This record gives sequence, structure tokens and C-alpha cells, in this order.
Amino acid sequence: RAKASGKARHEVFVAGMRVQVMTRLQLETDLRRAIERQEFRLHYQPLISLQTGKIAGFEALVRWQHPDRGLVPPNDFIPVAEETELIIPMGKWITHEACRQLKIWQEQFPQEQPLLVSVNLSGKQFSQLNLVEQIEQTLQETGLSGHSLKLEITESIAMTDVESTIALLQRLKALHLQLSIDDFGTGYSSLSYLHRFPTNTIKVDRSFVSRMGDESEDSQIVQTIILLGHNLSMDIVAEGVETAEQLASLRTLKCEYGQGFFFSKPLVVEAATALLKSDPQW
Ligand code: C2E
Ligand code: MG
Ligand code: MG
Ligand code: MG
Repeated sequence: RAKASGKARHEVFVAGMRVQVMTRLQLETDLRRAIERQEFRLHYQPLISLQTGKIAGFEALVRWQHPDRGLVPPNDFIPVAEETELIIPMGKWITHEACRQLKIWQEQFPQEQPLLVSVNLSGKQFSQLNLVEQIEQTLQETGLSGHSLKLEITESIAMTDVESTIALLQRLKALHLQLSIDDFGTGYSSLSYLHRFPTNTIKVDRSFVSRMGDESEDSQIVQTIILLGHNLSMDIVAEGVETAEQLASLRTLKCEYGQGFFFSKPLVVEAATALLKSDPQW
């Protein structure tokens, strides 16, 4: 059966290749132009403290406002941006824009524990030589405290070259940044390395959270990740929280933060501002 489906997939790939190459080229051309024309937008998804039920911050998620194609989701263009290294200027803009916006919200909505913003880093950015200097400069230019910026790297990126990951994370830590391992549970993690990462947070991948139920294996996995994280003195963010039941279970398991459609979808700036104004509590 595996052989048959492998062959089928091969044929589909060959038949679709010409189209694929053309769209890939078109995409690359369009992407280059998009940077000059400033067609990227950030949407902000609230991150909820499960203890207080209040908004603790936001994850910045990039979208592309394409002139013909409309709003393009990140999974449709980040991979090509990575391959072409366009992710480097794009990533610089994303971090700068997220810090600039967060600074505005912090001034507009001061709170005891200041709001934070979480920004995703791709693998290419993570191996960019001047990453630390660039982020330091962004903090200076926007006036945002390093404590208020969190960087998310996926488990797979973190585990690619562990020694250089640790070295880089330590340099970022020296800027007081918060660091998070994203999509945890989907990649391969060596537990003997995990404790050496100076990270503050583990984000449990949505695939586990979405399948949480009373007796399910996935509930056990989420519980195990939470225990593991807590033993390593890390906070846990559950991503993809969609139901009140999931929220209740996560609270029982002492998960610190939640993010997901149950609270809010990623929002444009105006909508996120309105949400902050309404000061919701879950
Ligand atoms: P991620 O960092 O794991 O982000 C979470 C994704 O899950 C977001 O998709 C978000 O909209 C979605 N999500 C959040 N809550 C729920 C929920 O309750 N249910 C469901 N079904 N989905 C939920 P999005 O915005 O399409 O981003 C996809 C991925 O693209 C991100 O995954 C991240 O890896 C990447 N990405 C997004 N923005 C950036 C960026 O600025 N830079 C880089 N390098 N990557 C980015
Ligand atoms: Mg993320
Ligand atoms: Mg994630
Ligand atoms: Mg994810």
C-alpha cells in the first residue's frame, strides 16, 4: 500500500511540476516587490494568563496583503521567503513593527505586569550573523524593554545545532529577552539538551491541545509536557485552545498561558486595541 501511494504521489508531483515552478518564480518576484511596497501586515493574537484570565500580551503573526490575491497566510509564503533569504529583511521589519506597536499599547494600557509581544523567528533568521545586534537596535529605536519581547523558535530549529542554539540564546538572554520553544512535541527533542536552553517558555503544539479530552492519550501528552516544563522552571503556553473544556483542563493542569480561537483569533491592530480597551477576563 505504501508503495502504491508513493508512486501516486510521484506522478502528481511530476504532472504539477511545471505549474509549481512557475508559481514559485512568480511568488519570488512578487515577494521582492512586496518588501519595497510594504505589503506585509501583522495580526495580533492575544495570549491569556490562565491564572488571572487577562490578556498578558500578543503573538505577532505576519500576513501578506497581496494586490491580486488578497490576504495571504504565512504558510503560503514564509517557506519561499526562507529559501530566497527574503525572510531576513522581512523578519527585520516584523520585529521592528511588533515592538513599535507594543510600545504604543504599553503606554495606552499600562499594567503591573507590562504587556508583551511574541515574534516568530525562522531558521534562516536564527542563523543570521547580526541577529543579536539587529534586535538590540530595534529595541533602542522603538524604546521597548527587552523584557517585553519574546522570541519564538520552533523545536526543530532549536535542535538542529544545539551548541550554537545555546550560544545564541544566551546572547539574546543578555538583552533580557524572553525565549520560547514553539510547536513543542511535533519535532524531535533531546531531553538532555532541553534543560540547557535558557528558555522561559514551552508552547505546546495545537495538535495536542485540540485533541484533549478526559481520557485521551493527548491529554496525557499535554500533562507530561507541562510537568516536564515545570521541572525545567519553564512556563507553558497552550496554543490552539478552542473550547471551554480545554481551558478548564489546562487550568487544572496549572498551565500558565493559553492562546487560541476560544479567546480570540489573530486581530488587526484596531480590533486588538478595542479588545484591550474592553479589558476582558476569561
Ligand atoms: P505558530 O507560530 O505556531 O502560530 C500559531 C498559528 O496557529 C497561527 O497561524 C494562528 O492563527 C493559529 N491559531 C491560533 N489559535 C488557533 C486555534 O485555536 N485554532 C486553530 N486552528 N489555529 C489557531 P498563522 O497565523 O497562519 O501562522 C502559521 C505559522 O506561520 C506560525 O505558526 C508560524 O510558524 C509562521 N509565522 C507566522 N508569522 C510569522 C512571522 O512573523 N515570522 C515567521 N518566521 N513565521 C511566522
Ligand atoms: Mg509561534
Ligand atoms: Mg506555535
Ligand atoms: Mg503551531
